[in-house]
Amino acid sequence: MMKKPFVTKEKIEEIVKTYPTPFHIYDEKGIRENVKNLKEAFSWNEGFREYFAIKATPNPFLMEILREYGCGCDCSSYTELMMSEAMGITGSDIMFSSNDTPAEEFAYAAKLGATINLDDFTHIAFLEKVLGTLPETLSCRFNPGGLFSISNNIMDNPGDAKYGFTKEQLFEGFKILKEKGVKNFGIHSFLASNTVTNEYYPTLAKILFELAVELKNETGANITFINLSGGIGIPYRPDQEANDIKAIGEGVKNAFEEVLVSNGMGNVAIYTELGRYMMGPYGHLITKVQHEKHTYKEYVGCDSSAVDLMRPAMYGAYHHITVLGKEDQPLDFKYDVTGSLCENNDKFAVDRMLPKIEIGDYLAIHDTGAHGYAMGYNYNGKLKSAELLLKEDGTVQMIRRAETPKDYFQTFDQFEIFQKFNF
Ligand SMILES: *Cc1c(COP(=O)(O)O)cnc(C)c1O
Repeated sequence: MMKKPFVTKEKIEEIVKTYPTPFHIYDEKGIRENVKNLKEAFSWNEGFREYFAIKATPNPFLMEILREYGCGCDCSSYTELMMSEAMGITGSDIMFSSNDTPAEEFAYAAKLGATINLDDFTHIAFLEKVLGTLPETLSCRFNPGGLFSISNNIMDNPGDAKYGFTKEQLFEGFKILKEKGVKNFGIHSFLASNTVTNEYYPTLAKILFELAVELKNETGANITFINLSGGIGIPYRPDQEANDIKAIGEGVKNAFEEVLVSNGMGNVAIYTELGRYMMGPYGHLITKVQHEKHTYKEYVGCDSSAVDLMRPAMYGAYHHITVLGKEDQPLDFKYDVTGSLCENNDKFAVDRMLPKIEIGDYLAIHDTGAHGYAMGYNYNGKLKSAELLLKEDGTVQMIRRAETPKDYFQTFDQFEIFQKFNF
């Protein structure tokens, strides 16, 4: 499959007159079409709800778009809860799926009325101590251990993951919670990340549905929702085939009918906490080439760095690159595309075949809409980029300004040296 950017060179040349590179730009039209398709694929389930994993792209302007389609927020930290509250998203519109959770975060989540998803058995006692009493509705995160496979392909290694209750702990936990007065229960699990297969959700759903039947039979718990969490992936590489959300919805529906409906649990709501799938493809990092270097390899250096997109440095992740305006030229030059950090892993691409690049070319780095800006950091004192929204009508709105040196030095504001920076 050809990966085509959602902006042209001409459009970027127009945008940079107002907003200089580097910046992340998001495609409103793409975001809307995608969330509509997700809703449609799960419309067979009356209680279906997507809680957008806000950590993927914590920007209120983007969350506001998803909210129009009924999405809630999936939060995992104090500031993510603050962002939700500031947007007026409270109560059961928040799923609080955190781990190693500080007491004040549980207290804040409970104050907002969020649905709390416990990561560990010991958090039952911890939460009770923090709140004085347990909420009426609670969810628990399940970790089956071992390896997680789909038709003999190992997808991930839950046995090595820090998250969730063991199966025994889940049964014991539900009994305790029930005794302590919890009325409504949810089950959550996240077994594999960035899956590019239509089988992941249906396979996970079947495991959780069967578990729900067992839990109900053994503990009498009233299970009202099952949260399939995140993990639906996107095709970062051009040779990967995108997931078919309709087929995924069908697959979950089949498991739902086979396991839950037949056991009298047909009114269980399905929740998702997708992050990457909701936003990933609808973001590009736009950066301008500022240097060429010819040593043992051919390098092109950009005005962005791992500060704006950490995934290649952190995971060796592939992000497709389009040289804007050169879409139709042959890919007959091999480059390392670098940022300016004093770290040799600060490379957006290694040995990548691209058209001949010149200084001043604009690169669109694809699929930065999730876990892109959000993962950024300030190493080397580099400042994080702006975020722009390409609206459906073709206009551009800045939805976060670029950082300034003052932002970087702000945490010295109580100290005398702060005055010497002369902002
Ligand atoms: C990261 C995360 C998500 C979102 O994962 P994606 O792979 O972006 O879909 C959802 N739920 C929890 C608890 C997470 O940690």
